[in-house]
Amino acid sequence: MSPRILINGAKGRMGQALASAAPELGLAISVAVDVGDDLAAGLAKADVAIDFSAHSATRTLLEAAVAQKKPVVLGTTGHGAEEKKQLLALAAKVPCVWAGNFSVGVNLLFALTRRASAVLGSDYDAEVVEMHHRFKKDAPSGTAARLLEIILEERKLTAQALRHGREGITGARTPSEVGMHALRGGDVVGDHTVMFAALGERLELTHKASDRGIFARGALRAAQWVVGQPPGVYDMQDVLGLK
Ligand code: NAD
Repeated sequence: MSPRILINGAKGRMGQALASAAPELGLAISVAVDVGDDLAAGLAKADVAIDFSAHSATRTLLEAAVAQKKPVVLGTTGHGAEEKKQLLALAAKVPCVWAGNFSVGVNLLFALTRRASAVLGSDYDAEVVEMHHRFKKDAPSGTAARLLEIILEERKLTAQALRHGREGITGARTPSEVGMHALRGGDVVGDHTVMFAALGERLELTHKASDRGIFARGALRAAQWVVGQPPGVYDMQDVLGLK
């Protein structure tokens, strides 16, 4: 039987994309929650919650999910490192899929970035460039943050290696730095490029999203998958069987 789905952030761009994608997958949205609505009462009528709202709303959602032992799918981005650490501890108490990007193509990009980082090594300068629509509130995107994490993990570097934009007399680039550049404008749904540049050649891995439906369909697939899983934090690689 299809799970009863609650959307938190229902009036937003992603909330609307979820509502349009659900019927394509034979699903229905049972409860739509946005600012000012009673989340706990809504959750009591749902089997799973999907959250695409604001980073400041994640704690309240997780507390309600833990209290009612309901699985959640978290798509909201923009959490600080410390904030995320605390939220992960809470999220682990229920079945939770947490992904900075729900598209299948981007999840393959994560796997390709890991492979390229491992094969090419520190002789190839790694830089990440992302572009999103003018309304996006956080930077870099959750997807870019995950790409950076993967590169840092493979190169055994810490977040201190990151260079967010460059300006002024920066000096020559060092092999241990990883550059990050966030562009904003227009209605761009989400572009991500990971660049590996050496003397004489450059490899670029690019993903371009042109329709929010890809995130919505992935999140709905995650919602179906997470119902019935044991408590713990999962990602799209688990849902897609890419691990
Ligand atoms: P949006 O601004 O269009 O919509 C957000 C909605 O959440 C609004 O309707 C707002 O009123 C509502 N909201 C804010 N605070 C709330 C609260 N406390 N309780 C309930 N509702 C609340 O934003 P969007 O483009 O739909 O994106 C939402 C989030 O999802 C962002 O963090 C964005 O980066 C992220 N996102 C993630 C993915 C992914 O694949 N993980 C894809 C797209 C967007």
